[in-house]
Amino acid sequence: MTSAYETADFDAVVVGAGFAGLHLLHSFRERGMTVQGVEAGDGVGGTWYWNRYPGARCDVESVDYSFGFHPDLQQEWSWTERYATGPEIHRYAEFVANRLNLRDLIRFRTRVESAVFNEVSGLWVVGLDDGTEVRARFCVMATGCLSTTNLPDIEGIGDFTGDIYHPGRWPHESPMLQGKRVAVIGTGSSGIQLVPAVAREVAQLYVLQRSPNYVMPAQNGPLHPEQLAEVKRTYPERRRMSRRTRRGFPLPTTVTNQPASSFSAAEQHERLEAAWAHGGAIFTSTFDDITTNPDSNQVAADFIAGKIRGIVKDPAVATKLIPTDHPLGGKRPCVDTGYYEAFNRPNVELVDIRETPVQRITSNAIQVGERLIDVDVIILATGYDAITGTLNAIDIRGRRGVKLRDEWCDGAMAYLGLMAPKFPNLFTITGPGSPSVLCNMFVSIEQHVELVFTLLAELRQRGAEVVEPTQEALESWGERVADIADSTLLVTANSWYLGANVPGKVRQFMPYAGGMASFVDDCEALLSMDFEGFTFGDVASYSEQEAAAR
Ligand code: FAD
Ligand code: NAP
Repeated sequence: MTSAYETADFDAVVVGAGFAGLHLLHSFRERGMTVQGVEAGDGVGGTWYWNRYPGARCDVESVDYSFGFHPDLQQEWSWTERYATGPEIHRYAEFVANRLNLRDLIRFRTRVESAVFNEVSGLWVVGLDDGTEVRARFCVMATGCLSTTNLPDIEGIGDFTGDIYHPGRWPHESPMLQGKRVAVIGTGSSGIQLVPAVAREVAQLYVLQRSPNYVMPAQNGPLHPEQLAEVKRTYPERRRMSRRTRRGFPLPTTVTNQPASSFSAAEQHERLEAAWAHGGAIFTSTFDDITTNPDSNQVAADFIAGKIRGIVKDPAVATKLIPTDHPLGGKRPCVDTGYYEAFNRPNVELVDIRETPVQRITSNAIQVGERLIDVDVIILATGYDAITGTLNAIDIRGRRGVKLRDEWCDGAMAYLGLMAPKFPNLFTITGPGSPSVLCNMFVSIEQHVELVFTLLAELRQRGAEVVEPTQEALESWGERVADIADSTLLVTANSWYLGANVPGKVRQFMPYAGGMASFVDDCEALLSMDFEGFTFGDVASYSEQEAAAR
């Protein structure tokens, strides 16, 4: 290490102690590097530390929604259900942190407010909310794609005297909802999981729906010891295969690589029925053109509409629950246990707030049109400022004081989802341009963490100090990400993938929609071409460039 680095407190700072942060902390330490983790929450697990709402579960099967990088972890941990509950996933995060002895590396209850690159020392100066700073060569943002809540600005919301909760900030001491009148605003994955769980407890539940979503049954159930033993026996191959699929997990036999048009109407129905019975969002891959061909999409959407009409007894309610404003897959498909069935309960009412919008909230009611709905509790299942919200909340400044949020004001992109020009040695795990939320996130996270260490190894190999992508590489990656998205129906929905859920946010499809296997291929191809798109240099040369620029 050069003398410029002598003032460093650590080799690396990792922001966030979700699964990405845990993997990074372990990986830095394994390589003999010093590392400081910083986490706003009081514990590990990220998403699963915060999301303690009733009904929370993963929608990727548990055996795949877990780490593959450490053979002992996957052999020692045993999932109990096909789709684990939030508490079980949180326990898994705690198991990982304890088993790998990571807790001592993390400063909990501490928020990173800024990260500023010092061109003279070549260090990232990371400012914390307790007024202290940490200096490190490498700064990794493992801050999560879905960790900054999106709260609606409804007139009068501050006057409400009852309780208001967001699923992503659910109180750790779960609130008593028994006997209460509760409104859930929002019918994305969080709302859809909450509704059946909350309906069982409360006196009355109002589900305020702006847009209906496509909901597929999880077909959840216990994992039997023989199933689990087989998975554990075949884990290495299973993990390898997961990177070779579009979604980041092994595909069931209900998935075909043929378009819907290659089947007769009866065969299509039979295949969709089998996919429905199999369960999960992989239903959207029953035919390989569901998310690219409007006709195929309609076939699958009509099938779901038929299911909704079959489950929901009141035909008028069923009609309102059928999506008409976006194609299947355009918004993240929801996976449920008993969502549509909940509307057959006498204590559950669907309130269509697209037809009759919310006017205001009073001290004890929500006014929808002329109607006042008296409630004790409001649950704002209104989602997240996804992918960029958490990064933009931190004052990140690179070379010449350039702010990341300014660089991203007309559209956000990171090269391979991981790095931005002018921000040397700063990494964004599952940043914009990554397959991230369109895949099993564990696979995205592990692949990104490996990429970070591939780049650091190359840095050392070249005797260089800093790595960053070129502007040209970023632009060409951005074009690739946009071209892939434009070839799908995903861009036609007002989804959070596009930032459409946050007023004023730039409309731009942020994730890489080509699938995990294709992303891995892209990365490998670029790295094999002498790390195409990356520049490796030393701090002094940047300081000289900086002086020349002035
Ligand atoms: P996170 O888990 O979001 O962790 C980021 C951490 O960074 C948080 O703890 C946060 O407090 C911390 N942080 C952020 N900013 C700062 C700051 N400035 N200073 C200090 N700390 C900070 N994905 C799937 O693939 N399958 C699923 O089934 C699935 N289910 C989900 C269910 C829910 C309810 C939600 C909200 C998301 C789900 N996801 C799912 C996506 C999920 O976010 C990822 O799977 C994964 O948990 C993300 O891990 P992470 O470490 O990248 O980020
Ligand atoms: P979301 O998908 O963005 O859904 C938010 C809901 O709130 C939508 O129905 C939206 O309606 C509504 N909404 C937003 N602002 C509103 C307003 N001002 N007035 C009325 N309604 C409003 O958020 P989410 O449900 O929290 O899910 C986010 C993501 O987290 C998911 O897509 C998924 O990736 C992940 N997640 C996964 C699971 C799981 O099953 N494992 C569970 C929860 C979350 P519009 O559609 O009209 O905008």
